[in-house]
Amino acid sequence: MSKLYIVATPIGNLSDFSPRAVETLKEVAYIACEDTRTSGKLFKHFGINTPSFSFHQHNEHKKVDYLLQILDSNQDVALISDAGMPGISDPGFLAIRSANQNGHQVIVIPGPDAATTALVGSGLPCDRYCFEGFLPHKKGRQKRLKELAEEERTIILYESPNRLVKLLGEVEEYFGSKRLAAVARELTKTFEEIVRAPVAELKNEFAERPSIKGEIVVVIAGNKYTE
Ligand code: SAM
Repeated sequence: MSKLYIVATPIGNLSDFSPRAVETLKEVAYIACEDTRTSGKLFKHFGINTPSFSFHQHNEHKKVDYLLQILDSNQDVALISDAGMPGISDPGFLAIRSANQNGHQVIVIPGPDAATTALVGSGLPCDRYCFEGFLPHKKGRQKRLKELAEEERTIILYESPNRLVKLLGEVEEYFGSKRLAAVARELTKTFEEIVRAPVAELKNEFAERPSIKGEIVVVIAGNKYTE
């Protein structure tokens, strides 16, 4: 039985990379990376010289077999994504399921993820929440928004900066203008900010900016929440 390590990497701040994560990446036989060039910078910074191969959403199905061959030959593999926790809006699930099904041990080395970092920083209830990742761009988007408008738990969404104002407009339309929400931008990085307000105000605030840059998480209060 070999080990598949699922290793979280920083979402911006390299100091968030844990000693255990670095040690694991140095010790395994191979590292499966979402983007070998992106991860190459991380490896250089931490002096990691382990051989790596690409494992991303476009080759995941094919590469799972390769990853299994390595595990079957009694060699351990670590799986990382470009940032944060593999499997969370990133490749990982297929590899983990296959490793499990084929009798290998899966060990998660925990670390940063944008979703829970934004949730905690939003000041919205963290006792019950649902993670929705990126909403579908076209088909099924309205249906999902209608369903989420009724959701009582705090909702976490990922969004790209150029679609943020559109998303906030949709939340205003489906959830109502007074629904509390937070935009968490550039978490753990130099220009980190978390702006929290009723969604109509949030939309105006970001619509007035000349440009919106960086990575974004939107956190929305559940439909029964009042302050
Ligand atoms: N696996 C990652 C995780 O654990 O959070 C998420 C990967 S997903 C492809 C990338 C999205 O995560 C970005 O578009 C953004 O919504 C969110 N994200 C990642 N890093 C972030 C950061 N530093 N600040 C805010 N959002 C971030």
